[in-house]
Amino acid sequence: MLETYLPQATARGARLIPECHAVQIVTQRDRAVSVRAELADGRAIEVRAGTVVVACGTIGSSVLLLKSGIRRNVGSRFSCNVATPVLARFAQRLDAFESLQMTAFVDARDFLLESTFNPPMTFAAILPGWFEKHFDRMRAYDRFASAGVVLGTAANGQVKRCGLLRDLLGPVDFRLAPADLETLKRGIALLAELHFAAGAEAAFPGTFVDHEMSAARFAPGGRIDRAAIERHVAEIVHRPEDLTLNTAHPQGGNPMSDRPDLGVVDSAFRVHGFANLFVCDASVFPTSIGINPQLTIMALADYAWRHCIAA
Ligand SMILES: Cc1cc2nc3c(=O)[nH]c(=O)nc-3n(C[C@H](O)[C@H](O)[C@H](O)COP(=O)(O)OP(=O)(O)OC[C@H]3O[C@@H](n4cnc5c(N)ncnc54)[C@H](O)[C@@H]3O)c2cc1C
Repeated sequence: MLETYLPQATARGARLIPECHAVQIVTQRDRAVSVRAELADGRAIEVRAGTVVVACGTIGSSVLLLKSGIRRNVGSRFSCNVATPVLARFAQRLDAFESLQMTAFVDARDFLLESTFNPPMTFAAILPGWFEKHFDRMRAYDRFASAGVVLGTAANGQVKRCGLLRDLLGPVDFRLAPADLETLKRGIALLAELHFAAGAEAAFPGTFVDHEMSAARFAPGGRIDRAAIERHVAEIVHRPEDLTLNTAHPQGGNPMSDRPDLGVVDSAFRVHGFANLFVCDASVFPTSIGINPQLTIMALADYAWRHCIAA
């Protein structure tokens, strides 16, 4: 953004207002007429607009529409790519921190396995174990490999309006569906198997309670016992709370559908019921795309501008 689109936009006459928080889109009948915003120094501004394109991201865009009194379906069909790590310790040094953080993925159809390796602080946060055990494991940081199971979840979440509920419970009401948990468990078992096939001495599913899986038990003499791994994962994971789950890929909230009873925007990115109000970001995804979404979001923005907004 800083090296391409933003300089290109300013070169063509766009004016950027940094540290500017949009708080309300002012509408009259079927038109957005202005956007009210607050600057970092507390000043309030109002920008009159012929066209408004909301691009505050999955949570921010839904919240802004809700604050502006636009409610039909807004916040619905929240999904995400959810990830859970499986770490592996090897007998020899790997120095994984010296290589690229993300290098490879395996497409297992209904989930991905993505290699990642984090700096010590974030690595420590996903490494199972507590107190001395955790401390001792961290001392073997240079002998660890790391990867995660990534799954596009069902679109069963809801972005909530800000206010008391949001402050108390967070901005999204979402619970991993039972079928998604089962898929994650298959991914965890496959990833543990993969680590053992690469020669790991132990694998560590990202469970809240410490469940170290030793090669001696699950891959004795180098022969991987797939059934035992799957049984073990089924025994240690019963609920989403048993796992370390994270997402950096929220999607939905303003789902795209040409049916106004189902979507927030139509297939031209236009908010149903408005002539000049558009949304263009990951919030328009009606279902999770199941893979790192940034290129798709940028391609959508390019398409939306050329074929829908500027057309
Ligand atoms: C740590 C991390 C690593 C990632 N790595 C990858 C990766 O390797 N590959 C990949 O494909 N994806 C990756 N992603 C995901 C990717 O960054 C997002 O999917 C993508 O940026 C979402 O684009 P968006 O336009 O929907 O929203 P954003 O990029 O979140 O843009 C929304 C913008 O709106 C601003 N905003 C929100 N509310 C308001 C408001 N009220 N007023 C004004 N501004 C507002 C926000 O500050 C933000 O700048 C990663 C995400 C994270 C967090």
